[in-house]
Amino acid sequence: MIKTISYLGLGTMGSGMAANLLKAGYKLTVWNRNAEKCEPFARKGALVADKPADAVRDVDLIMYTLSNDQAVEDVVFGAEGILSGIKEGQIAMDMSTVLPATSLREQKAYAKRGVDFLDAPVFGSKRESADAKLWIMAAGNKAIFEKVKPILEHLGQTVHYFGKNGNAAAMKLVGNLIVALEMEALAEGLILAQKAGLDLNTVMEVVKVADFRSPLLVSNGQNILKRDFSPSFALKLMLKDADLIEKFANSLQSPTPALRVVEKNLAAAVDLGFGNENASALIKALEKEAGVEVKPRRVRRSAETKQSD
Ligand code: NAP
Repeated sequence: MIKTISYLGLGTMGSGMAANLLKAGYKLTVWNRNAEKCEPFARKGALVADKPADAVRDVDLIMYTLSNDQAVEDVVFGAEGILSGIKEGQIAMDMSTVLPATSLREQKAYAKRGVDFLDAPVFGSKRESADAKLWIMAAGNKAIFEKVKPILEHLGQTVHYFGKNGNAAAMKLVGNLIVALEMEALAEGLILAQKAGLDLNTVMEVVKVADFRSPLLVSNGQNILKRDFSPSFALKLMLKDADLIEKFANSLQSPTPALRVVEKNLAAAVDLGFGNENASALIKALEKEAGVEVKPRRVRRSAETKQSD
């Protein structure tokens, strides 16, 4: 039975998952590049390691959630990385969004050291991570998956097994393709609604109930109307994912014509300086092109009144 866990990468997603592992009673060691993020965990009883190679010593399971493929390269394969400290019999699990090819590379490198590996990316964002409501996918050896599943159940509301290594990473990219197109659809739709003079609060009431509704459209739409772009899923990470999806789809000759449009708008929003805002700030690139800012009439009117005061 797994009792001791290391968590590496305490960003938006990793910090929520690591906190839930502590809550569930696991003996936890943490590591983060910026060490300050380890402090709240140390106060709650976690051990803090100075480098990835030290973080992974003498634990049953190593979990990590890092920004991108390059971060995985540094933390797993780097000079004082996980691979230089890990030992036969341990289990490693990458919960980052990376290319399936990266997951396969990790699996091969771990296998050489007698270590089992699962790719286990997640759907859900900051809130779902903090509330242990993530939707988790995992791939790799089935017996190892069964061993790790009780831990994943402390972090998410669903856990789906996807078979061989790389498949969960592939499913994450499939899902994020849909997410990216939904974000673009929401942005284009809200701008059109505003230009048509519709009441945007009523527009969102319809988005909430109609047959095209989705929690993602509702929460992002409501936040756009409040002009709240605080990051749950940073715009720059969505651009990173669009690039991964394009590479992955190209490698399989799977067409993604709409994704290219979203990618262009994401890149434009990053160029405008919104990369650290929420992915919904994609709308700001289209607003610039449209010459409008999406705001409900009430907010617009009070802003106009303030200006004339
Ligand atoms: P985040 O808040 O930016 O955290 C990224 C983490 O990666 C931080 O711990 C950061 O360390 C670390 N990191 C980045 N580059 C590194 C490097 N070269 N070496 C060592 N550590 C490095 O990102 P996040 O939102 O948690 O996302 C993490 C992963 O989950 C990404 O792959 C993302 O696509 C995926 N994801 C995110 C969401 C979401 O809604 N946010 C949802 C599903 C999946 P520092 O603190 O030192 O910068």
